[in-house]
Amino acid sequence: MTDCVFCMIVAKKIPASIIHEDAETIAFMDIGAVNPGHVLVVAKPHVENIFGLDDPLAAMVFQTTARVARAVQWTFQPPGMSVYQANGAPAGQTVKHFHIHVVPRWEKDGMDLVWPVKNPPREELAANAERLRAALAQ
Ligand code: AMP
Ligand code: ZN
Repeated sequence: MTDCVFCMIVAKKIPASIIHEDAETIAFMDIGAVNPGHVLVVAKPHVENIFGLDDPLAAMVFQTTARVARAVQWTFQPPGMSVYQANGAPAGQTVKHFHIHVVPRWEKDGMDLVWPVKNPPREELAANAERLRAALAQ
């Protein structure tokens, strides 16, 4: 897509600090890095979000993510690491081209994810599991 910033990086039309590239994926430093070593793993084809990944592409992006995570760990030695991926505006997605954040984490680094635990009743968990098993069987 011509007006997509990550497509432009894939096509080498704008600069990026690339650390890895293969036939299906590319990984580069996040321009707005929240910590040193913050990397984005991007699917090369323009797919907007996780729902656009077929199984081989999904496998490739997670293989690259795991390899990048090991490299970030080896290089920056953080005591923690977040792997984060957003789909749609309510989830916080700002660039509509599938990507995974690999973010090395330190105590009190200011990054925060509010996780409003609701502890639903077991019956609700079982009902939702039943619906999802049916969806996965399609
Ligand atoms: P998200 O909010 O998950 O869609 O994240 C998009 C990320 O892309 C942000 O962390 C931005 O800092 C990053 N980003 C946007 N433009 C560029 C760029 N040209 N090079 C590197 N990272 C970028
Ligand atoms: Zn794109």
